[in-house]
Amino acid sequence: MRSSKSMRKVLGNRKTRRPVAAALALGMCAAVSGYAAEPDSGELDVVQVRPNFYMIAGAGGNISVQIGVDGVVLVDAGTEGASDRVLAAIRKLTPLPTRYIINTSPEPEHAGGNGKLAKGGLTIFTNPLGNTNFLNAMTGGGASILAHDSILQRMSAPTGKKSNFPVDSWPNEAFRQKRWYVRMNDEPIEITYQPAAHSNADSFVFFRKSDVVAAGDVLDTTRFPVIDIANGGSIQGEIDALNKLIELAIPPGPFIYEGVGTYVIPGHGRPCEQLDVVDYRDMVVVVRDVVADMIKQGMTLDQIKAAHPARPYETEYGTEEGSAGAFVESVYKSLTGKK
Ligand SMILES: [Zn+2]
Repeated sequence: MRSSKSMRKVLGNRKTRRPVAAALALGMCAAVSGYAAEPDSGELDVVQVRPNFYMIAGAGGNISVQIGVDGVVLVDAGTEGASDRVLAAIRKLTPLPTRYIINTSPEPEHAGGNGKLAKGGLTIFTNPLGNTNFLNAMTGGGASILAHDSILQRMSAPTGKKSNFPVDSWPNEAFRQKRWYVRMNDEPIEITYQPAAHSNADSFVFFRKSDVVAAGDVLDTTRFPVIDIANGGSIQGEIDALNKLIELAIPPGPFIYEGVGTYVIPGHGRPCEQLDVVDYRDMVVVVRDVVADMIKQGMTLDQIKAAHPARPYETEYGTEEGSAGAFVESVYKSLTGKK
């Protein structure tokens, strides 16, 4: 099933939609597990999610691609090392320029490609007086990089620390509100900040007309959720964010074979439906409850880890080495307040 350079149309034929989507899902799982260790020279997978909407996998984190008359809107940019291949993949989809890159998180696998992909795009800001210096001051003439302020703060490493990212990859349109939006390609695009979930800098990006949500690392079908306690993540924030994702997504019905409902693009792994997010949320809640019980019994972190509270889910989410242990540890630290 893993095809390759060629684009695969997931939803072309209504009658075969579900089986094709299911087969793809299995293929994707196999193809994308162990992402973190994947070398930057790997092939990209381009999956058509809707007529005007694609997902690019294999460049680090998943990249969402919305295409229309205004140009291209990307959610996330993959790693810096994959940028040339991502640019080539987008070029195969459309000759139109990238106008916006919207980030879901400040991790290098999601935002590392910001600079190169923005440079390969074209600003939407026009100036009737032809003053190009004004444009260059805003975006360098390339695509805008739009993100919640928490992402800019992390990427620019304020006060005393050195940034891991070059300045041209930092968001040049940052917002502090919990909810922000742009309208591109005749579609409202809504960005909602999710506090203290995978980290202190997560956003969902909801394409209201395409009915697709890019969820970033709050949802990761290749492993247990990574909760970055040191950077402000928390188990309760992760569960809250997954619940919000479930509320945003709509399942198919009453004609369940006629549609797939809202698509949820995870930070890593296959495109999901609402029910997949419900399953993932339930898994996270069950493991949280078991760990909470063990803490109540007075067990230490080592004893809890040795008891494998996430064992029922390890075959599905624990294939990446250390994923289950890291998740259990983050739940423990989050519940006990220990760092
Ligand atoms: Zn990620």
